[in-house]
Amino acid sequence: MQFTLEARSKNARAATIKTAHSTIKTPVFMPVGTIGSVKSLDAEDVLNLLGAEIILANTYHMYLRPGDKVVAKMGKLHNFTKYPKSFLTDSGGFQAFSLSDISKPMENGIEFRSHIDGSKHFFTPKKVIDIQTNLGSDIMMILDDLVALPATQERIKVSIERTTAWAQESIDYFRSQQAKGICVDQNIFAIIQGGTDKAFRKKSATELCAMDYDGFAIGGLSVGELNKEMYDTVEHTVQYMPEDKPRYLMGVGTPEDLIENIERGVDMFDCVMPTRNARNGTLFTSFGRINIKGAKFKEDTSPIDEECQCLTCKTYSRAYISHLFRSKELTYFRLATIHNLHYYLNLMREVRAAILEDKFAEFKEEFYRKRS
Ligand SMILES: [Zn+2]
Repeated sequence: MQFTLEARSKNARAATIKTAHSTIKTPVFMPVGTIGSVKSLDAEDVLNLLGAEIILANTYHMYLRPGDKVVAKMGKLHNFTKYPKSFLTDSGGFQAFSLSDISKPMENGIEFRSHIDGSKHFFTPKKVIDIQTNLGSDIMMILDDLVALPATQERIKVSIERTTAWAQESIDYFRSQQAKGICVDQNIFAIIQGGTDKAFRKKSATELCAMDYDGFAIGGLSVGELNKEMYDTVEHTVQYMPEDKPRYLMGVGTPEDLIENIERGVDMFDCVMPTRNARNGTLFTSFGRINIKGAKFKEDTSPIDEECQCLTCKTYSRAYISHLFRSKELTYFRLATIHNLHYYLNLMREVRAAILEDKFAEFKEEFYRKRS
């Protein structure tokens, strides 16, 4: 992976990440394609209508179904899904932790039961790397030890120590695999933990960032803490992260969260929010959110957002989209998802342009002014 930092506007950064499959301009929002598909869209939509250079897929889901060995046989994620650009895959630890009714973190991995058929599985740091090698992801994430909050200080301490030990095991294994000619085109990121505790975040960041990773993620946020706590934690953590590698904030968030965290030096984001909210009727616009099921849209001939250039806004009225939503028509899901993802991706393109001109502060002011 090649990472080039092109510009800064205060702490906001614009960079380029080159993987074996695409050139990613940052700040970047990565649409979530859990099972190898961005819900309601196909690869053509993601490529041609949205212009996404990277999407996410989920290790836990692909491992259980259709199975990572099947994906490998089908030409890895890129050929199986026909999305030829970059894939980032998470380690699966979060889903093993949150989707399984029994999930046991242990000294050497996480035991869990499949949410599909109840079968028993065990993820170790090496096993999730092997799975992601089969998937062929451009960026893989390591297994980390997650803690359900609220947790005792003692439990968080164990989580950080275990995450560091697993990170060392993961990077040693990954680089030794590469030395054997395996996963040579792939990259690996570590995940900084520590809740909202500043001392724990510093410890986790310092220990992980000393290791030979291609990039670093901030995990364990957006789990119910106040926005201000999230922003403070990111600001605090970023100072211990290297300048010359990508910084990824996992599972965040609203358009406002993206702007706030870009200001604090984050480069990469993912979140189910634009896709999930689209399906629930919540649409993001340059002047804030709207709920398309509102009766006031019944005869509204204007597009969802006058400023939006997406297929949905260029073609259809709010009245029609609202009608499709109320009729639970399948086409609604595609058109609403296209709009919300276009909004997120375009917001990132506009922020990037502002950073390149060293006008991030002006951009942020205008972003909030339109919403008030
Ligand atoms: Zn639109």
